[in-house]
Amino acid sequence: MSKLAAQRIQSNLDRLQLARVAEILDEEVKRATEEKMAYSEFLDRLLGEEISTRDVRRVKTALRLSNLPSEKTLENFDYTFQPTVDRARTMELGNLDFVRRRENVILLGPPGVGKTHLACALGVRACQAGMGVYFTSLTDLVKKLVVADRNPGVRSKGLGYVKAQVLIIDEVGYLPLERQHAHLFFQLVSRRYEQTSIVLTSNKTFTEWAQVLGDPVIATAILDRLLHHAHVINIRGNSYRLREKAKLVAAEAER
Ligand code: ADP
Ligand code: MG
Repeated sequence: MSKLAAQRIQSNLDRLQLARVAEILDEEVKRATEEKMAYSEFLDRLLGEEISTRDVRRVKTALRLSNLPSEKTLENFDYTFQPTVDRARTMELGNLDFVRRRENVILLGPPGVGKTHLACALGVRACQAGMGVYFTSLTDLVKKLVVADRNPGVRSKGLGYVKAQVLIIDEVGYLPLERQHAHLFFQLVSRRYEQTSIVLTSNKTFTEWAQVLGDPVIATAILDRLLHHAHVINIRGNSYRLREKAKLVAAEAER
């Protein structure tokens, strides 16, 4: 290849934004020559490399923008420890058809049973599938909604919660909401209803939501929309956080 041709190729790859091809071209040309590679195979290799590099980068960016606190997975959830969580059903949710159907997932149960873990794991799957994901606690979400409510028209960068295809709302019920804040929460749920998915975790039963949300009418209105198309996973079991402690106690008792 002439030096001129090589330069032109690099500058064209640059214009086409094929950064990965530009990076590996020399090496790949050398290899193709040595191995007497078919032209189609050569092209296939180059394009494949470009695409896979982009996929990796896209998932990384999606994970960063998602605000997900950790990269928990559906695979590293211990289903034998938590028998009320059905592995097959959870894996099925992991296929994300619920997002395509704009349905919600509600994870209920006492502290430490893996609600946040599973919600995050679904979020990670969605990021990998190229979906927009945003993770927030209800408390932080309400703070954002209050700011947005006071500054209508202000386009802040932190609007992930509005646009995300999958909005994960963690810890509904840990802190009670003021009535006015519950109303902002209602507006958000109502806006997303049948448009995009919500994955939500709560340590309170639906009947307790009336108290948590400060107003039974608003609680009912929120639940009405959330539950219309929803998969509810009710986890009843022991805290995973306390399992080591439980083991110690058991060992102590056997002595
Ligand atoms: P919750 O949100 O229900 O209070 P978390 O999801 O935060 O509980 O779980 C607490 C910790 O225990 C996390 O680090 C989580 O990854 C881990 N954990 C919980 N349940 C399981 C499980 N069944 N298998 C593996 N890790 C678990
Ligand atoms: Mg939690």
